[in-house]
Amino acid sequence: MTARTLLTDELLAAIRARAAAHDAENTFPHEDVADLKAAGYLTALVPAESGGAGLTLQELSHEQMRLAAASPATALAVNMHHVWVGVARQLAARGDHSVDFVFDDVMAGEIYAFGISEPGNDLVLFGSTADAKPDGTGGFSFTGTKIFTSGSPVWTRLGTFGADRSDPDRPMDVFGFITRDGGGVTVKDDWDTLGMRASQSCTTILNGAHAPADRIACRIEPGPTMHPFVFGIFSSFILLTSSVYVGLAQRMLDLAVEAAKRRTSAKNSGRAYAQDPDARRRIAQAAIALDGLYPQLDRATADIDGLVDRGPMWMPQLSAIKYRVSETVQEIATSAMKAAGGASYFTKNELSRLYRDALAAVFHPTSEDSVHGMWASALLGPLES
Ligand SMILES: Cc1cc2nc3c(=O)[nH]c(=O)nc-3n(C[C@H](O)[C@H](O)[C@H](O)COP(=O)(O)OP(=O)(O)OC[C@H]3O[C@@H](n4cnc5c(N)ncnc54)[C@H](O)[C@@H]3O)c2cc1C
Repeated sequence: MTARTLLTDELLAAIRARAAAHDAENTFPHEDVADLKAAGYLTALVPAESGGAGLTLQELSHEQMRLAAASPATALAVNMHHVWVGVARQLAARGDHSVDFVFDDVMAGEIYAFGISEPGNDLVLFGSTADAKPDGTGGFSFTGTKIFTSGSPVWTRLGTFGADRSDPDRPMDVFGFITRDGGGVTVKDDWDTLGMRASQSCTTILNGAHAPADRIACRIEPGPTMHPFVFGIFSSFILLTSSVYVGLAQRMLDLAVEAAKRRTSAKNSGRAYAQDPDARRRIAQAAIALDGLYPQLDRATADIDGLVDRGPMWMPQLSAIKYRVSETVQEIATSAMKAAGGASYFTKNELSRLYRDALAAVFHPTSEDSVHGMWASALLGPLES
């Protein structure tokens, strides 16, 4: 089947044209999101039978690469929305329709954000420091701080989690969805970062933000788990986020190639750097590194689409993809800057912005330390205390 696409070249060109200003002014790309919404992009993963575009995860991965090549921060902001639709889609494909409301919400124009990260909590998905207080009818009220909530200016639905400590001997993590206008939510205007500035990933303070029983996805024991909801988050997040950084890396490589063809070398009788053996090797090296990322992402997205069960190695393998992508993107960013020369160091140069954006990859889960711990445990057994 030919891969389906929702993003036209014209739309991507318009988004790219706006990216530098949003970075310089530290503003959210409202026009990008409006255009993406008009193009049906926010419904990309909603199954066709629910009215959406019905793209597969693999198709969306390719689209996210193209979008990130135009504006990484815009791609990252909408990525978090797609993650939740991806979770609902995986569950529905397994016959669990408990979070199909995500499809209905998205078709009604709601925008989802990802309220998982918490200050000082490197357990990430596997244990929350926030509170989830039961309301007695199956719903919960969430209280705590969520950091780096991408798309802060526009989200209307937040997927989040907290710990139900009503039984102090057996705290349970509760995953649910709150609405922005439902009360108990404060979004701080505190995003001022080195890169990914337009993602506006501000701090979200939850103070009794309520999710009724029909918006609670699951209540599970903290700790690593293959629970389908958590696996859905883990896999959708890692694969779509990795796609963003692969698209960014491709754009850096393309810009480096253009620069090498344009820049001339006095040492080499005014010939372009494209004829310089060192520049050629540097660019080739970056391209070889990037080339290796595509098949792995394609294989993993296809396996998620096909509900393939890779058993206990799924999570370490997904984490390894994200780690390899984030490390390779740093290498490509440095090589691209070197190949493009000092001009790329100027703020007005797109590469300098992408170089800053690329660094964000290392902060997303799974962290370098966690992925090594996962693999070591898988191969050597747990660390003895
Ligand atoms: C561009 C970008 C977008 C992101 N988007 C999302 C998103 O949409 N949703 C999401 O859930 N996550 C998102 N993340 C978050 C990411 O997944 C990490 O959780 C985040 O980068 C924090 O990493 P860290 O724990 O290494 O940071 P740290 O440096 O350890 O901490 C980050 C913040 O928490 C504070 N902090 C650290 N320890 C404590 C403590 N003990 N007490 C109080 N405060 C403390 C720090 O001062 C700092 O402000 C995003 C990250 C980036 C870089």
